[in-house]
Amino acid sequence: MQPYDAFLVVDVEATCHSGCGFDYPNEIIEWPVILLRWNDQTEDGRASSLVQVAEFRSYVRPTWRPQLSTFCTDLTGITQADIDSAPTWPEVLGLFAEFLAHHGLIDPRTGARSQKFIFCCDGPFDIRDFVTKQSHISKIPIPGYLRGDILDIRKSVASLMASRELREPMTSTAAHIQRNNQKHLYLPIPMQLSALLLPSFTGRLHCGLDDARNVARILIELARTPLRVEPNTRILPNRRWWWMGPGGKVNYPDSRTPA
Ligand code: AMP
Ligand code: MG
Ligand code: MG
Repeated sequence: MQPYDAFLVVDVEATCHSGCGFDYPNEIIEWPVILLRWNDQTEDGRASSLVQVAEFRSYVRPTWRPQLSTFCTDLTGITQADIDSAPTWPEVLGLFAEFLAHHGLIDPRTGARSQKFIFCCDGPFDIRDFVTKQSHISKIPIPGYLRGDILDIRKSVASLMASRELREPMTSTAAHIQRNNQKHLYLPIPMQLSALLLPSFTGRLHCGLDDARNVARILIELARTPLRVEPNTRILPNRRWWWMGPGGKVNYPDSRTPA
């Protein structure tokens, strides 16, 4: 039985510097989302076949530190020109709400959810950290539709691998897990694909849209297993970082920013 109607795979790219760490005030620079739905759901809610229905993608212009580091461009492939001409985060959220309303996921007037959907990400960071930080910097609340718990597919792949351990032919990834004697090893996207015996990563790793498309392929595969596709991770929308000042201020000294 599958309790959700629709799935939104998101993979955020954000400003960063070499070795900047998890507490850096990253600003979102790419917001790509893939919408998937069941194409075989029965009246009693059983389903195992997910298909991609639509894509939303926008670059986002940062406002606290609008200049991208070379490290960030090298990592993500996103250039200064891409973000200089992009809408800001509140504007992107406006466009994204139109996309959600167009697909019947939220009420266009109130923004309230009108279907059961969840966000799905590779790891817990995309909404829990990047969206929460960005909301502070943009001085706007996190929209209600982004506040639900998420499905961390990296976590689901890890538990699936642990449950399949030694019952199936050894992939190089399974062998890697066994060598490291780790039952719940969290794998990067290319290794998740190979662990599930799927075709290898397509596109450019750390391009948000390509990451999201490949994560969507993993989600489609997870849905074919007996797993119930449902949230497994809290997002903590009230989380605060030490550099968050009143009124959206960012008290992060330049001296702490690596080159
Ligand atoms: P990903 O989805 O793995 O491409 O990463 C999302 C974001 O996390 C990137 O856009 C960066 O802001 C940050 N990030 C990923 N890897 C690194 C790294 N090695 N050093 C600093 N930031 C990183
Ligand atoms: Mg990611
Ligand atoms: Mg990415």
